[in-house]
Amino acid sequence: MLVYKPITLGPLKLSNRILMGSMHTGLEEAKDGFKALARFYAERAKGGAGLIVTGGISPNRRGALKPGGARLTSRRQVKEHSLITDAVHKEGGKICLQILHGGRYCYHPFNVGPSNIKAAINRFSPRSLSTRGVRKTVRQYSECAVLAKEAGYDGIEIMGSEGYLINQFLVTATNKRTDTYGGSFENRMRFALEIIQSIREKVGKDFAIIFRLSMLDLVNEGSSWSEIEMLAKSLENHGVDAINTGIGWHEARIPTIATLVPRGGFAFVTQKLMGSVQIPLITTNRFNTIEACEEALASGCADMVSMARPFLADPEIVNKSKVNSNAVNTCIGCNQACLDHIFKNKIATCLVNPRASHEDKWPRQAKANVIKRVAVVGSGPAGLSATIEAARLGHTVTLFESNSEIGGQFNLAKSIPGKDEFNETLRYFDFMLKEFAVQVKLNTRAEIASLTDYDHIILATGVKPRNWTIPGSDSKEVVSYIDVLKGNVAVGKRVAIIGAGGIGFDVAEFLTHDETSQFLEEWGIDETLAERGGLKEPMPGKSDHHVEIFQRSEGKVGGKLGKTTGWIHRLQIKNKGVITRNCIEYQSFEEGHLTFKESGIEHRIAFDTVVVCAGQTSYAPLLDGLRAKGKSVISIGGALSASKLDAQRAIKEGLEAAYEISPWS
Ligand code: NAP
Ligand code: SF4
Repeated sequence: MLVYKPITLGPLKLSNRILMGSMHTGLEEAKDGFKALARFYAERAKGGAGLIVTGGISPNRRGALKPGGARLTSRRQVKEHSLITDAVHKEGGKICLQILHGGRYCYHPFNVGPSNIKAAINRFSPRSLSTRGVRKTVRQYSECAVLAKEAGYDGIEIMGSEGYLINQFLVTATNKRTDTYGGSFENRMRFALEIIQSIREKVGKDFAIIFRLSMLDLVNEGSSWSEIEMLAKSLENHGVDAINTGIGWHEARIPTIATLVPRGGFAFVTQKLMGSVQIPLITTNRFNTIEACEEALASGCADMVSMARPFLADPEIVNKSKVNSNAVNTCIGCNQACLDHIFKNKIATCLVNPRASHEDKWPRQAKANVIKRVAVVGSGPAGLSATIEAARLGHTVTLFESNSEIGGQFNLAKSIPGKDEFNETLRYFDFMLKEFAVQVKLNTRAEIASLTDYDHIILATGVKPRNWTIPGSDSKEVVSYIDVLKGNVAVGKRVAIIGAGGIGFDVAEFLTHDETSQFLEEWGIDETLAERGGLKEPMPGKSDHHVEIFQRSEGKVGGKLGKTTGWIHRLQIKNKGVITRNCIEYQSFEEGHLTFKESGIEHRIAFDTVVVCAGQTSYAPLLDGLRAKGKSVISIGGALSASKLDAQRAIKEGLEAAYEISPWS
């Protein structure tokens, strides 16, 4: 396989073509964070990453993304960074530091930019850098690179994309300067080139420099393709060893890494630059399997592939895939525990792998001191996680499932358009059940009597849909989301969805999805890259349902969806003409009409089907009986509490329960 062929990147001889891309974890700013980061990266180096790039580190105080954000500006910090480089090198890996100056994206009042133009996604306006300030910043980049070399890094990556400072200099939308750093494209790229030149002069030839180049800005007045090509060639001439691909500014309203982006869906952009430069090109965005990477390499899209989140999901993705890719815990592109955490100032981890960033808390190699007989009841995400983790610790585990297949709520989630990656999680769990020889009892409803012989019982019986009761809610037109997603009921043309949580939105997407629509057309991405920024008129598919979503509360409809993906779901249903209503008081559903008050005003609207997505209640029928018998029982996931339940909480509680049932070492 091409993936596993060695490649030379400047002074570095890499054993394979997979780069673990930059990803901020939050450990960079945490107490003892560098020790944890060292473990985190060492595990990924051991797992086979050809090269690792760290999360973004600022070259000065103003460039940090938040107050107190990580920077490398002094010798004192070199010591901390060498914990990381030593740990990675010990595992035979290679690692580059990413230098990132956020410019106008920095979330603090002392941020700077090429011009005084506020970003739509930031409430702080930047101060325009003086010409002297620009030159000082160039110098600080090179000083940071020198410190990185002292810390033992094998090279650096300069973040020149995603709408950060260097990218802001490149385009006229954010650069209105009249000095030598503004105006013509030669002037606008001067900042980037001076940074590279100054770094190369100071670090010499035996230190790798990668530049992350925005090849598709996805914003108005973005770079043109000829400018991108010109910059790539100039970067090569100034001593860059490889060019990584950047897709989309953070303020772009087009999804670039969410689950609904097809795997490797932006590799065509890197491919367009192939041949224009002689140095290796790295492609990126929504690669989550080694097979997809191999396909991109084999079709000449790039020389290397970068993946970040898949290394959170499974540190061993590279090595495991060499033997059997079914063993890989695949990133599902949900952003729920990684990026959403970062935006909430929490440590990034992973929905499918809660160990990520907490490697020392639940060591993968740990074994239980005493082997126990463990029963897990329910094979949704919580139960599956508890089962494989208890088995990994060495316990003898039996899994009870009343349905004919494992998966619980994941079996519903995987039927939502753009969420088929949930199949991968189920494939992984299924593989691990066999690997650990777990006894799986399908079509078996566990009873108290059948559980009394076990030392520990983990209840993961999940949730039940909440009843919605108003006059007429027992009509045949009022159905549960479960029956809709399973295809058990016919859904009419005019649909009311009761409840605007994650499931209400999922059902709206399910009903309004247009099978014929293509990702690039739907979101208005110009594959020919003929227009600046790569934008064209979006063509959302057509829905054959008229859908309205209702919620009783006042807030924004869908306002509680994920931080980094909620806007996509809201925009998607808006584009399909879905009507959203809040401040609702339901009154009745009679003769095919829903009567309700919206902000106090009465409406009566005809609907063929009403789908109830009004949340969940906990379902744990065995708990009291088992406790009465004095059994050791732990409830997890929905069986513990339906409040704020999602797959992330369920999988984490499964892991915790497994480590809780007996001492381990
Ligand atoms: P949810 O997020 O709690 O939403 C329940 C919805 O039902 C709310 O809009 C609520 O709004 C409404 N509701 C609550 N009680 C009601 C009642 N008695 N009568 C009428 N309406 C009522 O629950 P969910 O949508 O079932 O999702 C379950 C979990 O799965 C959530 O934690 C969610 O994070 C997760 N999930 C996430 C996604 C995603 O992020 N894309 C997708 C699927 C599931 P009002 O109270 O204002 O009416
Ligand atoms: Fe991937 Fe979701 Fe894990 Fe992030 S939280 S690494 S997107 S599976």
